[in-house]
Amino acid sequence: MEKMIGFFKSFLLIELLKGMALTGRYLFSRKITVQFPEEKTPQGYRFRGLHALRRYENGEERCIGCKLCEAVCPALAIAIESEERLDGTRRTTRYDIDMTLCIFCGLCEESCPVDAIVETRVFEYHGEKRGDLYYTKPMLLAMGDKHEKQIARDKAADAKYR
Ligand code: SF4
Ligand code: SF4
Repeated sequence: MEKMIGFFKSFLLIELLKGMALTGRYLFSRKITVQFPEEKTPQGYRFRGLHALRRYENGEERCIGCKLCEAVCPALAIAIESEERLDGTRRTTRYDIDMTLCIFCGLCEESCPVDAIVETRVFEYHGEKRGDLYYTKPMLLAMGDKHEKQIARDKAADAKYR
């Protein structure tokens, strides 16, 4: 019996007609395709884009070189070297992130006790050779300086739900 039903379904092109009906329905419904880059989709305040290192309002680096982010990074993308300064505080002498390794999991940001390393909303970037995606400390600090206002707003929004 099942074979007979299958035969008539094939003979009458039932599956094809069902498929065409579905296509027809979507042909006239509202389009959800986003015309990037002219159009952008909304971003959440926890968006995980390009990384940045933040400073305090007085210009001092937040990072205290504790290396928690380096230890927690599952991709081994972070490389840190640090030393004690003359005033007794510890600061990094090297803070690099290899974006070709990073999987944007956000664990570095979660682990940081002083909100120094963060992921910004920036996702439009590229490299033309491998080295272009190797972000050094000056590059990460420059990202932080450039996007601090947005980062601070996102952190404040996030804090409400913690
Ligand atoms: S986002 Fe994840 S993979 Fe990327 S540097 Fe941070 S901890 Fe490592
Ligand atoms: S960014 Fe944060 S977690 Fe990483 S070394 Fe600096 S203070 Fe520690």
